[in-house]
Amino acid sequence: MKESQSKEFRAALLAWFAQSQRDLPWRRSRDPYRIWISEIMLQQTRVATVIPYYRKFLQRFPTVHQLAAAPEEEVLRMWSGLGYYRRAQNLQIAARQIVASYGGEFPREKAEVLELAGIGEYTAAAVLSIAFGERLAALDGNVARVLARLDARRGDLRAADRWRSLQDRADQLLDGEAAGDWNQALMELGATLCTPGPPQCLLCPVRQFCEARKQGIAEQLPEKRRKRAEVAVRLAAAVLVDQSGNSLLLRPPATREPRPADDHVPALVAKLWHFPTALANGDGIRTLRQLFAKQLNMTRDKVVFEALSAVRHTVTYRRIEVSPFLVRVSKLPPAGGSKTIALNAVLEQPISNLTRKVARAALAVVAADSIRSGG
Ligand code: SF4
Repeated sequence: MKESQSKEFRAALLAWFAQSQRDLPWRRSRDPYRIWISEIMLQQTRVATVIPYYRKFLQRFPTVHQLAAAPEEEVLRMWSGLGYYRRAQNLQIAARQIVASYGGEFPREKAEVLELAGIGEYTAAAVLSIAFGERLAALDGNVARVLARLDARRGDLRAADRWRSLQDRADQLLDGEAAGDWNQALMELGATLCTPGPPQCLLCPVRQFCEARKQGIAEQLPEKRRKRAEVAVRLAAAVLVDQSGNSLLLRPPATREPRPADDHVPALVAKLWHFPTALANGDGIRTLRQLFAKQLNMTRDKVVFEALSAVRHTVTYRRIEVSPFLVRVSKLPPAGGSKTIALNAVLEQPISNLTRKVARAALAVVAADSIRSGG
């Protein structure tokens, strides 16, 4: 696109956005707190999934003060099911930073916003432009794809030098008079028409400016990234159940130090409340027995492991298979950092989707037992 066409291009995109934008709950507000929550929830998560979570979260935490003051467990419970729980933990850390350093007002300087936990270049630009009209171009995956097609750019867009050059291009194209709408218009185009699959160029408001369409290569762009090799992870999990139907969940560790990439248990299940879980390369029962001895002080007990249906789950590059076991005990071990909870209430706890699947496998067996015994 020639520089002389930029004005026409901006007008066409903004007119389309004004007319065609989806009615999304966070678009009804210029409150930076609400926009920030929506931007964090939308990272890695689809709009349709986010909407009910967004509403519930804001009902429970309508202000940054309420989010800052809430127990972490409550924040995680409201996030439960959205995945990538680090986002929720960072939200609360940042809320506390905003209360402590800015009296609860979202900061307006980009440098200050970048100091907040969990906020990077994209989120800072999105919140500041949408809430305050700051002249900042927000570059995320959707926008990068649109820009790459408009200019017919080849190569892996996430490579550092290409990403920088896309940011330069986004800065150059930014409509400074309407920065918030401009950023949202580009994101909306990427989310609705210029999608990762075949783009709908016939409906596109800026097709006459698009180099990839002219060259007939829109569908081939952006070029595929080299995918990280998949890793198969085998875990074993123990659902201990006592005679009253109570189970045992272990507490997430207090420290959040970075761990090695192959330390799968902390990365996958132990960030939240979880059943005793161990890596199981080979015999899952043996590794669980070791864990029982080390963490639950269950060395002398005669433990019977009843195999439950295997659970499969995928998190980014990890393909996980869990062998869950039901372990019936007369009394749950008094392990430090654990909590006793009715098995049928586990699903309401702040747990990962993986732990949720394990709980469901155990509940299916316990419910069938109860029907058989007429309970
Ligand atoms: Fe995307 Fe097609 Fe529009 Fe180009 S013409 S920006 S490829 S939807």
